[in-house]
Amino acid sequence: LADRLQSTIQKIRGRGKVTEQDVKEMTREVRLALLEADVNFKVVKQLINKIKERAIGQEVMESLTPGQQVIKVVQEELTQLMGGEQSKIATAERPPTVIMMVGLQGAGKTTTTGKLANHLRKKHNRNPLLVAADVYRPAAIDQLETLGKQLSLPVFSMGTEANPVDIANEAIKKAKEEHHDYVIIDTAGRLHVDEKLMDELTQIKTDVKPAEIFLVVDAMTGQDAVNVAESFDSQLDISGVVLTKLDGDTRGGAALSIRAVTGKPIKFVGMGERTDQLEAFHPERMASRILGMGDVLSLIEKAQENVDEKQARDLEEKMRSMSFTFDDFLEQMSQVKKMGPLDDLLDMLPGAGKMKGMKNVQLDEKQLVYVEAIIQSMTRKERQEPSLINASRKKRIAKGSGRSVSEVNRLLKQFEDMKKMMKQMTNMQKGKKKRGMKF
Ligand code: GDP
Ligand code: MG
Repeated sequence: LADRLQSTIQKIRGRGKVTEQDVKEMTREVRLALLEADVNFKVVKQLINKIKERAIGQEVMESLTPGQQVIKVVQEELTQLMGGEQSKIATAERPPTVIMMVGLQGAGKTTTTGKLANHLRKKHNRNPLLVAADVYRPAAIDQLETLGKQLSLPVFSMGTEANPVDIANEAIKKAKEEHHDYVIIDTAGRLHVDEKLMDELTQIKTDVKPAEIFLVVDAMTGQDAVNVAESFDSQLDISGVVLTKLDGDTRGGAALSIRAVTGKPIKFVGMGERTDQLEAFHPERMASRILGMGDVLSLIEKAQENVDEKQARDLEEKMRSMSFTFDDFLEQMSQVKKMGPLDDLLDMLPGAGKMKGMKNVQLDEKQLVYVEAIIQSMTRKERQEPSLINASRKKRIAKGSGRSVSEVNRLLKQFEDMKKMMKQMTNMQKGKKKRGMKF
């Protein structure tokens, strides 16, 4: 999605004036991009109409160029489409609060059950009980028990012979006795939505009266995920969605359509297999990310968790003030390495989505080592002022790092692109601040 949009955005970004023709062209590209991203066509139609209406009729704001305004409109409408920010988990009046995890087989229910329990304990100081109510899949109970052990959280199970409805009821009893404030029930899935599954889930729902029913869907299944959400919602009246495997989803179509189609919020996203890779869903950030503008906020947030706060603040300041140099880049890379899988972090950096596309290679840890080597072969001065780097310096750097001159060129280009993107973002933020808007 990002690639197509970006080239269009690039075209109009620099312009002082945007004509009606530009808006038309832009919205056509946006429409194709959204359809390509597997967004529901009704959703696309609505969105495009809104964008057109707003973009054409818009008064010119002094702080933004018309090109920026169109981008802003698209971003705002995408954000709107994905709903407000909602990562709160309901609390029942009388404990325990019961959360039911539902979804198709392989969507990530069991994994997310563990992640959610971990989140409740770590971020909210809760004491959850996990319940293994998937008695059909042979290894499902073991899987949850292993997760429980790993997280030092108790898991309730009655083996594979028991009825899931009984398991759920017994689990609540036990939770009351042992003063667990949350009960998370991992239910069975099927390959497809079927009546038997729905009957069982409905029965559990009736008995345990969950405060939340979270539908877990696999983002990589795109439009299918939207259909699944629609049918689960019509039968169970779900309270929210957890979108998993967003780390592998490059298109973002599911995120864009689910809210619009079901009216139910995406509450969390799964960003990897590890138990700490659950994040609150931020529509605004997702919109920026889809637009390929990078997700500086998420990056900074992540940095704050892993790096000490002052460093993160300095980095943020530098990004905003444009005094970002290759030294910072290097420093940042070493932080990035601490933070885990590289791809999701790079996606968050402004322009990085484009970087990946340009290179046409998977960015992996090896690339990181090469980049590091190249930067380390620059002199101090060159790192601060990359414009100094002429042909002979490039040759020297290439030799020093054992990489080719074209690789050096590529890195320089990427760095410039990144700075440009940052500038763009900073300007947009300034514009918002000026008008007293919250960023
Ligand atoms: P269930 O059948 O719905 O219980 O699904 P599981 O929890 O067993 O997950 C199925 C597979 O998806 C497992 O291999 C998980 O590790 C993987 N998985 C779950 N969530 C994520 C995620 O957010 N990102 C990635 N990359 N993998 C995930
Ligand atoms: Mg499971």
